[in-house]
Amino acid sequence: MSPIKQNLNQLKSLIPEGVTLVAVSKTKPVIDILEAYNCGQRIFGENRTQEILSKKDLLPGDINWHLIGHLQTNKVKYLIPFISMIQSVDSFKLLKVINHEASKIDRIVDCLLQFYIATEETKFGFDLEEVRAMIETDEFKSLKNVRICGVMGMATYSDNTDQIRNEFKSLLSYFRELKSAYFVENKYFNEISMGMSGDFRIAIEEGSTMVRIGSVIFGERQKLN
Ligand SMILES: *Cc1c(COP(=O)(O)O)cnc(C)c1O
Repeated sequence: MSPIKQNLNQLKSLIPEGVTLVAVSKTKPVIDILEAYNCGQRIFGENRTQEILSKKDLLPGDINWHLIGHLQTNKVKYLIPFISMIQSVDSFKLLKVINHEASKIDRIVDCLLQFYIATEETKFGFDLEEVRAMIETDEFKSLKNVRICGVMGMATYSDNTDQIRNEFKSLLSYFRELKSAYFVENKYFNEISMGMSGDFRIAIEEGSTMVRIGSVIFGERQKLN
């Protein structure tokens, strides 16, 4: 059995039913993606617009692509025709641009609100007050071409499992607060995207509905991304 197939099968046995696996294929070649595809994997995550664009035309059309990295507003228009979910919405400005571009082709784009839960300076995302303030504006309520499906977050890259667990607990509490305050009647607001290769077990214990896993499936990446 090929390593990717083996890794994927092993991983699937660790992920409970009801938790979605996003295979993070950034920096990995198209043939690796195809191998995971041939094992039944259909959802792939990439963090760069240019990389998704160059890979997607070489791969089957029924792949669901998720953007999981910081998105510049000038790149949004290239993703809108095909992207399944933008997990990394980290500003109101970006959400408005996604809505605007999606409205041009009459699409509704699934989005997650990325929260800043780590202690590292480099991670993007909202805090709870910013999201509350955004949701309460009339402009937010008028956005018809984005669908807010939940939240996403990345824990600190660390060996300190207590810290990681607490960061995931924070994300779950943000999700619950938003759900009860604004999305009770909304059947789409359901996802808590948290957990990567190093911390997905903790994330699942803390209520993750979607894990984003790269290196455990495809092997280590050459450089940090
Ligand atoms: C790279 C990346 C992942 C996956 O990382 P691994 O440690 O390889 O599993 C998950 N989420 C985001 C946002 C990423 O950029």
